Amino acid sequence: MSVTDAVAVKSSFSPVPATAEQNTKPSLIGLSREEMGDALRQKGVPDRQVKMRVSQIWNWVYVRGVSDFDHMSNVAKDMRDMLKTHFTIARPEIVEEQVSNDGTRKWLLRFPPRGAGRPVEVETVYIPEEGRGTLCISSQVGCSLTCSFCHTGTQRLVRNLTAEEILSQLLLARDRLGDFPDRDVPVGAMVPAEGRKVSNIVMMGMGEPLYNFEAVKQALLIASDGDGLSLSKRRITLSTSGVVPEIIRTGEEIGVMLAISLHAVRDDLRDILVPINKKYPLKELIDACRKYPGLSNARRITFEYVMLKDVNDSLEDAKGLIQLLKGVPAKINLIPFNPWPGTNYQCSEWSQIARFADFINSAGYASPIRTPRGRDILAACGQLKSESERMRKTERLAFEAMMIANHGADD
Ligand code: SAH
Ligand code: SF4
Repeated sequence: MSVTDAVAVKSSFSPVPATAEQNTKPSLIGLSREEMGDALRQKGVPDRQVKMRVSQIWNWVYVRGVSDFDHMSNVAKDMRDMLKTHFTIARPEIVEEQVSNDGTRKWLLRFPPRGAGRPVEVETVYIPEEGRGTLCISSQVGCSLTCSFCHTGTQRLVRNLTAEEILSQLLLARDRLGDFPDRDVPVGAMVPAEGRKVSNIVMMGMGEPLYNFEAVKQALLIASDGDGLSLSKRRITLSTSGVVPEIIRTGEEIGVMLAISLHAVRDDLRDILVPINKKYPLKELIDACRKYPGLSNARRITFEYVMLKDVNDSLEDAKGLIQLLKGVPAKINLIPFNPWPGTNYQCSEWSQIARFADFINSAGYASPIRTPRGRDILAACGQLKSESERMRKTERLAFEAMMIANHGADD
């Protein structure tokens, strides 16, 4: 692992990265209780013990964050040996950890192939804020969609992540941030809701989560399970570019908060910026949003709107936005465009973003501009990209210098 601009990180347990041997074993992370029970049964755990073993393992893995069976002190040694022989709970390898000058952290993680295929790499980003911290999780390696302003969209889809790989991003971040309780916490303890470093998660990393529905669902149900990572579903947000048929299912089957990558209020423009619009145009998208289960003024959909200079940032667009969202319990998030090497788009002028925001504010939506975070380490929205097409270090340094010259180090 290499650490760029590293600061000391307090961690109760050091994550145990997978060894070559563990890489080929099935992981117990990301399995539902039933699946874990079946896996244990197949390895000879007697029926009458299965339920108890599953709840012990869930508690060790998700509440206490262990990544080594030998730390499971209330599990008999022969049982631990059996688990070690057949399964793994090891973390992915950290290829690189970067810390931005604003405290944002980005990890490049490598997941083993688990059988056939090649290892894959994804990025996960942690954004600390006053009194809270948000983890931005990836759902796919690359993306099959090609939104024209998004860096991830230039990386072809390599594959969907599994529920294990999605959840492991959360477990690893909590390891690195020292966010798991110390080992002497009584067995069965709950994860405290207050004072957590990772208090919120957003499915806003690489990939389109609704093109990987089942794995995302399973991972988020474990993340929000009271015996799992017990994050409130109100603190989990799934962002979609607009896969209409899965939107209602997201509300019904996962029950998390929804964000829509809107970015344009006319079909002709959205067809270019977010090409999935050709399949599911604005009317269908907004209709599906209106039907999202559990919406109220206290539980709104977030509409993300990237500010692209002279493309979608006029006051006409702002008017169109308010018109389009009429009657939908909505929050609007204006995202200053985050540039990446090779893009033809530019971020709107700050004065124009302010005018646009004022218009939106006067229509009753509160302070909608999202401050870009972690731009200097390419960790901001839409800048993630991994694997073979990753920039070489020299290219990255040149890009970072350009960013600082154009925007200042802290913008
Ligand atoms: N695929 C999902 C999840 C990714 S979320 C989706 O599109 O919703 C990432 C968010 O950042 C999306 O709203 C995306 O449209 C936005 N985004 C992509 N590229 C960006 C960029 N260069 N600058 C700012 N925001 C960007
Ligand atoms: Fe994929 Fe979302 Fe980027 Fe579009 S914005 S290319 S859907 S990651």
